[in-house]
Amino acid sequence: MSRVQVPYINLPLQHRPLKPQLLAAVERVLDHGQFILGPEVSAFEERFAAYCETQYAIGVDNGTSALFLVLRALGIGPGDEVITPPNSFLASASCIALVGARPVFVDVRDDFNIDPGLLEDAITPRTRAIIPVHLTGRPADMHPILEIAQRHGIHVVEDCAQAVGARYHDQRVGSFGVAGCFSLHPLKTLNAVGDGGVITTNDSALYEMLRKARNHGLRNRDECEFWSHNCRLDTIQAAMLLVKMDYLDQWAEARRAIAAFYRKFLRDVVAQVPEDKSHEYAVYHTFIIQAERRDELQDYLLEEGVETKVHYPIPIHLQDAARSLGYGPGSFPVAERQTQRILSLPVYPELMDAQRDWVVYTIKRFHKPIR
Ligand SMILES: *Cc1c(COP(=O)(O)O)cnc(C)c1O
Repeated sequence: MSRVQVPYINLPLQHRPLKPQLLAAVERVLDHGQFILGPEVSAFEERFAAYCETQYAIGVDNGTSALFLVLRALGIGPGDEVITPPNSFLASASCIALVGARPVFVDVRDDFNIDPGLLEDAITPRTRAIIPVHLTGRPADMHPILEIAQRHGIHVVEDCAQAVGARYHDQRVGSFGVAGCFSLHPLKTLNAVGDGGVITTNDSALYEMLRKARNHGLRNRDECEFWSHNCRLDTIQAAMLLVKMDYLDQWAEARRAIAAFYRKFLRDVVAQVPEDKSHEYAVYHTFIIQAERRDELQDYLLEEGVETKVHYPIPIHLQDAARSLGYGPGSFPVAERQTQRILSLPVYPELMDAQRDWVVYTIKRFHKPIR
């Protein structure tokens, strides 16, 4: 077994083979000059909606705006509550606070996704929506979530930031709720070369509203219907995304193959590896193991050239920003325990066999020192 460096992510490597196509796309945009809401934006929206099997898609400037705009378009604001898990990237909750509503957290299961069994207890007369997060690229348990939401007359807004292409019972994420919100940040599985986001929906009224909401509330060039932000997706980013969409499925397959390899060789070594169910098609934005002595393991791996991350070291309800919500240590025992044990391994399509082998070898050696 030979020692190799394994960076957590390697974007230059992803872009090297795509460079001729990406540069040609940049050149086309420079030549036509329609940098704001140019033809590539609508082409990307059409392509993305078709990919997610939804009627509509609306390109926006990032994933946080996607969530914020949808909540606001649904009329959610002060006095309202919205349910979300506490172990996500903080934007899953900040979007709720930013529209003036109250984030209400519900604990997760060992798949890192919101526990539908705990939802009913968190629903009050003020609850307007649930934001399940398809964390790590694995779909949340949508059937019970949708059933409960329907029974209580509340919206489901999917946070798909980590899960483009994931399926649940053969249906794409982003097509279950009233809207799906995606991030196209460079570290997400479909990535712009900068910030970007996109919203999917099958609701034509919501679609019309969101098209205006991302562009100052403008109905057309001159007439403003309501105050809103500028949350547009750049034409040049849409052009990059159109190139990358061709590779999306093969990238997901590559991530799944690495995940399967890790699972096979680490299942009996660490405390837990992700084991997705037969009705789930997970796209492995992250591959998160759980390990005792996580910090020691992480340090050891780094010494051996393997870079890992923790997604996320501080649950949202324990952030300073969340203090006024009244949660504390112990509020969400499953998520909090996971925080101590989770470790994200490198899982990008460009990862080479020798690197993947080295990751497994070093993790095994940490647990069973070879003399
Ligand atoms: C990345 C991410 C977001 C926010 O997306 P940005 O494009 O960075 O604003 C929201 N939710 C989750 C789960 C994310 O991973």
